[in-house]
Amino acid sequence: MLARPETRRCIECGLPYNMPGFSYYHGDVENGAAYWSDRGILCSPACSLTHFKRREAEGTLPSAPAASPLEFGR
Ligand SMILES: [Zn+2]
Repeated sequence: MLARPETRRCIECGLPYNMPGFSYYHGDVENGAAYWSDRGILCSPACSLTHFKRREAEGTLPSAPAASPLEFGR
């Protein structure tokens, strides 16, 4: 369920890490995913927002953003 090295894919749409379309931090795959949460990585701002809203609706948002300075700005 949680992102493991061998199962790194977007937790919203399932896009595998390393695939075209995946957003990387500073645009470089070496830097890792640009978006993520405490549950896994996200491929794009759209999936990040979708995940955030779903977690908000579930009431399962972490008390603090998952160490992400990006897109989770609250
Ligand atoms: Zn996605």
